[in-house]
Amino acid sequence: MTRMESTTNAQQVVRLWLANALALVGEHEEELGRLDAAAGDGDHGTTMVRGLRAANAAVTDAKGSAGELLAQAGAAFSDAAGGASGALVGMWITTIGQRLGDGPYDLPALLEAVQAGTNRVARLGKAQPGDKTVLDALTPFLAALEAQAAAGASLGDGWRAALPAAEQGAAATREMVARRGRSAKLGERSLGHADPGAVSMCYLLRAAADAFDRAGDE
Ligand code: ADP
Ligand code: MG
Repeated sequence: MTRMESTTNAQQVVRLWLANALALVGEHEEELGRLDAAAGDGDHGTTMVRGLRAANAAVTDAKGSAGELLAQAGAAFSDAAGGASGALVGMWITTIGQRLGDGPYDLPALLEAVQAGTNRVARLGKAQPGDKTVLDALTPFLAALEAQAAAGASLGDGWRAALPAAEQGAAATREMVARRGRSAKLGERSLGHADPGAVSMCYLLRAAADAFDRAGDE
C-alpha cells in the first residue's frame, strides 16, 4: 500500500498489526523463552504474549485515531507485560502512536515516529547499538527504512524491504556480550545466543509488514 488512505483504514492496520504480532510471537513463545533462559530468566516469550494480549484487548473497541489506538495499546502492553521489555516495548509503541497522532500515515511519518520511539527506548534503557538489546534490530532497520523513504518507496514496500536489515541485526547479536538488562549480569553466557528482545522485535516489525499488505488488499 502507498499510504493509509482513510482514518478507518489506519485504525484497521493498527488492529491487524497487533493481531498478527500476537499470532507470530505466540508461535515463537518457546523459542523466545529459550533465548532468554541462556543468560536471563527465561520469561521473554510469556512476557511478550501477555503484553500483546493486553494490547489487542485495549484496541478492540477503542475509539480514536490510529495514533491514539497505538498510544493506548502501548500503555496496556506495559501494564500487563512487566519486566524490562514490558516498559521498553510499551514505551516504543506509545511514542510511535503519540508521534503519528491524527496522521498522515505515510512512510516519512512512520519513519519519524519509529525513530522517536527508538530514541526514547535508548534513553530509557541507557543502551546503545552493540549492547545486545532490541536496539540492535531497530537501528539497522531504521537505517534501511530511511533509505527506502529517501528513494520514495511506498509504506508497505519500503517497510518490507527494510525487514532483512532488522533480521540481520538480530542475528548479529549472537556474537555480542550483553551490556544492558538482566543478561548483562551473566555477560559472557549470552555469547552464542541471539538477544531475545531483538528477535521478538523482528516479529513485531514483520507483523506490521503483513498488516500493511493485508490492508492494501482490502
Ligand atoms: P526481563 O529482563 O525483565 O526479564 P524480558 O526478558 O522480557 O525482561 O526482556 C529482555 C529483553 O529486553 C532483552 O533481550 C533486551 O532486548 C531488552 N532489554 C533489557 N534491558 C534493556 C535496556 N536497558 N535497554 C534496551 N533493551 C533492554
Ligand atoms: Mg527475561
